[in-house]
Amino acid sequence: MKSYTDKIKEIAKRLLKEDKVDMVIGYRKGTVPLMHQPFFATSEGEVDSFVWDSNCGLNLANYITDRKERIGIVATGCNSRNIAVHVVEGKIQRDQLYIIGVPCQGMVDRHKLAAMAEGNIASVEEDEDKGTITISGQGFSKSVDKAEVLQENCSICVHRNPVLYDELVADEVTEQTREQADPYARVREIEAMSPDDKWAYFDDLLSDCIRCYACRNACPLCYCPQCFVDESNPQWVGKSVDPTDIRTFHLLRAYHCAGRCTDCGACVRSCPVGINVRDFTKKLEKDCLELYGWEAGLNTEQRPPLDTYKPEDPEDFIK
Ligand code: SF4
Ligand code: SF4
Ligand code: SF4
Repeated sequence: MKSYTDKIKEIAKRLLKEDKVDMVIGYRKGTVPLMHQPFFATSEGEVDSFVWDSNCGLNLANYITDRKERIGIVATGCNSRNIAVHVVEGKIQRDQLYIIGVPCQGMVDRHKLAAMAEGNIASVEEDEDKGTITISGQGFSKSVDKAEVLQENCSICVHRNPVLYDELVADEVTEQTREQADPYARVREIEAMSPDDKWAYFDDLLSDCIRCYACRNACPLCYCPQCFVDESNPQWVGKSVDPTDIRTFHLLRAYHCAGRCTDCGACVRSCPVGINVRDFTKKLEKDCLELYGWEAGLNTEQRPPLDTYKPEDPEDFIK
């Protein structure tokens, strides 16, 4: 996506040259294919490392928590919503930020591509005009339509355009309607299961979890100085990979994200064993929408529903 990359570089250079920001946070090519890295450019020369393509799936809002500098930041729809959540929660001031908005065309699923490869993937090429992704390695090369290998969260995304920005790198993309995207189809399937089937489903989902916490660390919502899983006094959850400890970690983390998660998919992209932890957060997102008419990060004024209390709230259990 050369045009996006060039425009990001142009804006970043201008912001640094005019001393409007102390740094610009974007992406540079990663050391492994399909995983571009966050990169902090503090000089015009460093800006040349920036890239933009379908491998920029880590969420840059993760890197602005409690920062005091003036920051330029590249933001897609979901990343901009996480920035809004940060502003609402007092983790950054809006006027510290210059948001370089990227109308987003979705990220590719590195786990799907790895499953298609006939060996280790050494390089990835994206053809913007044809809409294809080509992976290659020792003795193989394979091209697929990008639409076939989009991350699931991107294929059902209804907020591809940044909701908060100072400047866009391109014209807005066409958004899918909720009817077209049907974002809660998978949640409905799980809701329809019997309790025993649900138990078996989530047991299986988490069976490979090694508790590396990559999902937590990649999530911009998980900024507590001390996470409940790391506390030893009191110890809220055991440290083992016992299924009970694993379930406790995932359920509690999901509830901490309720009404705040933007379905950016960084947690799933970061998981080394490909666990779709969004099965938890997507259900909570659906509940927030249906019960409170709430979607996270659409403005910088309102706090999430589970974070507010009014004496006249109708729920008796609160009183
Ligand atoms: S969830 Fe939407 S905005 Fe975020 S990367 Fe995917 S398509 Fe882009
Ligand atoms: S829980 Fe996952 S999908 Fe939700 S904001 Fe955090 S990283 Fe993104
Ligand atoms: S990243 Fe994956 S393996 Fe690591 S704790 Fe999260 S779900 Fe478990």
